[in-house]
Parts: sequence; structure tokens; C-alpha cells
Amino acid sequence: MAKRMHATDTNSTAVPSETVVDVGYYSPAQRPPPSLPARYELHQVTVQPLTNCPFQICLLDVGSTGKLPDCDLRRISESTFIIACADRKLPVDDQLSLIDGGVDDVVNGDDEDLLLLALRRAELMIARQGVLFRKCRDLATERDNLQSAIDNLPSPIFFKDRAGIYSGCNKAFEAFIGLPANKVRGSSVYDVAPEELAKVYEAADEELMQRGGVQIYEAEVCYADGKYRTVTFHKAVTRDPVSGEVNGLAGSMLDITERKRLEEQLKRAAERDALTDAYNRRRFFELADSAEDRAKKTSASLSILVLDVDHFKQINDRFGHACGDAALNHIVGLLKNVLQAPHIFARAGGEEFYCLLEECGLDDAFTIAERIREAVETTPHMHGEQVIPMRVSIGGASVADGEKISQTIARADDALYCAKQAGRNRVCMA
Ligand code: GH3
Ligand code: MG
Ligand code: MG
Repeated sequence: MAKRMHATDTNSTAVPSETVVDVGYYSPAQRPPPSLPARYELHQVTVQPLTNCPFQICLLDVGSTGKLPDCDLRRISESTFIIACADRKLPVDDQLSLIDGGVDDVVNGDDEDLLLLALRRAELMIARQGVLFRKCRDLATERDNLQSAIDNLPSPIFFKDRAGIYSGCNKAFEAFIGLPANKVRGSSVYDVAPEELAKVYEAADEELMQRGGVQIYEAEVCYADGKYRTVTFHKAVTRDPVSGEVNGLAGSMLDITERKRLEEQLKRAAERDALTDAYNRRRFFELADSAEDRAKKTSASLSILVLDVDHFKQINDRFGHACGDAALNHIVGLLKNVLQAPHIFARAGGEEFYCLLEECGLDDAFTIAERIREAVETTPHMHGEQVIPMRVSIGGASVADGEKISQTIARADDALYCAKQAGRNRVCMA
């Protein structure tokens, strides 16, 4: 059985000559149809002129008048190739007005050869339309698949044209901005963000589109649900495939809020003591190193205090370890009150603390040490109703010329030993 031609069936513009072609025929004047080779199967179109022509090619008899039937041929010719057939040679103006009226081709004077040529042209045109149709359909499928893929990604993704107008986005971006994609498309950043923020985004986009390449930066953004998130913007320019000119950008937003929080947590854990949240020994020496550098550059004084709780073991023994823990936190609270920036302190271990006093000579260091000692003496730790008096001994030293901070700490430690030997609850300076 011979194949029947249909525009969407062929994969090339070549039309096999054995294909059967269905051709509609409409003659308002009821003229008999032209005789055609067998592969053209003529079908009389009887329904009111061509409004619903099911054929891809239709012959339209315009007789000798060259007049069109009363219907919208332009709309019909979107799906049907219409060949007007005149029984005489029509003047060019009449032929042109037929074409202007929606006819695709004109055959004059009942000339069968000309009609065959016109039919062949129509077949070729339909085959080409078929190729284009399939290309469009494949592109649409590809676009829909890509859209489904990006819609399933949790990161907001957006596209903008060269003027900064949104040309597309995914579901996550809709949720971020609080608008459906059809409202996002055609909007500028000024339509979706407060003016101040929009200016920043616009400037960043413009910088990228002028420079080309990619742009990555971190920003704090507010989602449509009112929640603030830290995100990394990853943006890249898009280019016209023919001219190579930048024609817009594609961007995505990676939510790094949780990662940031964990990083912060890790950083804190690495430099803080878990019980008291005071700086740990490691962090103390990092800070001491930078303070040492600063002091060298500015010739400022730098002092160290080493503080040890007196008879701390007795607190543990009498009131329990948990009470001892709370007592250490109590000491940390007092140290925070007394030591203001740039001074810092750290838990050196057990019930021992180091203080780093910047821009502070030996006399000032002594005053500060006394203030700490007195604060501890006059502010007992409360364990429930139980009043737990506490005392500290402190040794202090100032960094001498050419001395390393570890040596200063060793001298302050010796001074602390002296304070203990001298009866505790006192400050000794080296
Ligand atoms: P001194 O006046 O000579 O310093 O006496 P002291 O009792 O304070 O000194 P000692 O070194 O004998 O005891 C320190 C105690 O601190 C022993 C240890 O169990 C206790 N300690 C160390 N770290 C912690 C801690 O994190 N929590 C509690 N509750 N106790 C701790
Ligand atoms: Mg002690
Ligand atoms: Mg100790």
C-alpha cells in the first residue's frame, strides 16, 4: 500500500514520488475538478468554504473572476497550502490580490502542467514545514525537559536578558521571590526587590555582562517567607550563538546558611573551651603572637597574668564536680566583667587562666590583677542557697625587650608560685 504524505511524518524535505497525496478541491461554481495523476487523490471539499479543510493541499477554483470565497484563507493556509486555479490567465494584480488574500500559489488557464508544478512546489513546501515543525517540537521537548530538571533542583535558578529583565526561572526561584514564573518573566530586579538592594544587584549584573565570564559572591538575602539566608550567587553570561555577543546571564543561588553555621560552630569549638566558652590555650597563643607583633611595631607594653584558683580541689571535694564546673564558669564571668578590650583571657587548663593585657605596663597590670582578685574575693559563687567563697592567686609579668611571650608566661608562673607560697589570695609581679 502506498504511503500517504503528512508533513509531520517525514524527516527530510525530499518527497518520495510514490507517496499518495490527498488534495482537497473546492469550487464555489461547482466546476468539475481537474484531472491529475493517480498519486494525487482529490477530495471534494463540500463543507462551507474550506473553514475546516483537513488536507494539506487544497485546490481552490477561482474561475475566471479570480475572486476568493468569503472566508479567512490566511488562517486556513497556516495548515493548508492553497493553490488558486483560474480558468484564464489572470492579470498580475488579480494574482497578487489572491496571494494577499491568503492563497499560496496561483495556476492560470487550467494548465495541467503548471498545476503539476504547483502541486510539487506545495509538497516540497509542506515537507520543509514538516522539518521545521519537528525541529520546533524537539526544541520544545528539550526546553521542557531542562525546565523539569531545574524545577527539581532546590537552588533558585534564574535567567536575565541583556537589559536585566528576567527571562525565566525555576520553582525554587519562584519560592524565593514569591511570584509565579509567568510574573517573574518580564520583570526587572526593581519589580521584585527593594530599591536599594535592586541597585546593588543591577550594578553587579551590569559589571558581569560588560566583563563577561563568571561572577561568584556571597550575600545575605531575604526569602519571600521573610527568612534571611546566606547564599552564594553563581552567575555566568550567556551569549548569542551567532554573534557571540553577551545576551544575558544565567544565575543560581546556593544556600550556604547551614554550612556557614557549621563552619562557625567548628571555628568556635576549635578556639574555645567547651566548659566555660572562654578562649582555649591554642587560641590564646595565636592571639598572643599577633599582640606580640603589634607591640613590637608600636613599642607598646604587653603584660601577662597567670591566675590560679586557690584550694579549688576543696570545692570539688565538698560540693561535687558539677559545682566545681559552675564555679569555673563563675570565675569566667568575673574575668569578662573586669577585662575590657583589648585585653583578653583564656582558660589555660584546669582552674588556671592566662590574661593577655595589651598596651599595659607592669603597674597597670598589677592594678588589673588586683581588681580581678578583689572581684573574686567579694563575689562568692552561689551553689543554690550555698555561698561558696573563692579566692585566686595571680602572678604577673611584662614582656621584656627581646623576650618571647612564652618566657614572660614562665616568669608570671614563677610569680604565681610566689603568691601561693606567700599565703594565696594575692598578686605577685615578676
Ligand atoms: P592550689 O591553691 O594550690 O592551687 O590548690 P588547688 O586545689 O586549687 O590545686 P590542685 O592542683 O591540687 O587542684 C586543682 C583541681 O582542679 C584538681 C582538679 O580535679 C580540678 N579541676 C581541674 N579541671 C577541672 C574541671 O574542669 N572541673 C572541675 N570541677 N574541677 C577541675
Ligand atoms: Mg589551684
Ligand atoms: Mg592549678
